[in-house]
Amino acid sequence: MIKDNLREVEERIQSACERVERNRRDVTLIAVSKTKPISMIEEVMKEGIIDFGENKVQELNQKCEEIKTELNWHLIGHLQRNKVKYIIDKVSLIHSVDSLRLAIQIDEEAKKVNRIVPVLIEVNVAKEETKYGVAVEDTLSLIEEISKLNYIKIKGLMTIAPYVENPEENREHFRNLRKLSVDIKSKNIDNVDMDILSMGMTNDYQVAIEEGATMVRVGTGIFGEREYNKGE
Ligand SMILES: *Cc1c(COP(=O)(O)O)cnc(C)c1O
Repeated sequence: MIKDNLREVEERIQSACERVERNRRDVTLIAVSKTKPISMIEEVMKEGIIDFGENKVQELNQKCEEIKTELNWHLIGHLQRNKVKYIIDKVSLIHSVDSLRLAIQIDEEAKKVNRIVPVLIEVNVAKEETKYGVAVEDTLSLIEEISKLNYIKIKGLMTIAPYVENPEENREHFRNLRKLSVDIKSKNIDNVDMDILSMGMTNDYQVAIEEGATMVRVGTGIFGEREYNKGE
């Protein structure tokens, strides 16, 4: 089942790339494995995927420790400052930095383990009240502040678009994130890259790729529906 799902996702990624004449190699598929067991992750690994996304610190930690193979672990969910220390030496990219306080915490913990931690700035492009993420108009000044920290490296932007029936409704949000990243890139801020645009989930990754996504985060489309049990 997972194998078939992956094949379908891969085909859709490729056709989205073709529609806008992008190179397939410029889009990284992140398999979002939250709530899913190691056995399923291993099935996905067999198909050659090495990028996995988790939204909880504890779950990322456990899975990272149990799976001996070196993988790229992406923290895609909201990160509390007191939990930064648990993942600092395990994550290959933190997608959800949206405040200077969090960035400072990451910088301090990264210094302790002597590594420079790559991050994305999460932007609330759709202006959703319930969502995390910095407002579009505050993004540049936040990035300017974070760029002064020594053990954190900004690699680009991320957004979580609203859940919509018709993915076309999210096209403008993806387009706006891309525009923002182009604007910021043009400022040539030291220590800041705008190479990564993490946008698009199961429901809308094809539209996101058409609008320039370089990372798509696909959970349900690969692993099937999630079941959230008691205690979640
Ligand atoms: C769960 C999650 C995803 C994947 O969602 P699907 O709709 O299952 O593909 C992507 N990004 C973030 C931040 C998530 O929390």
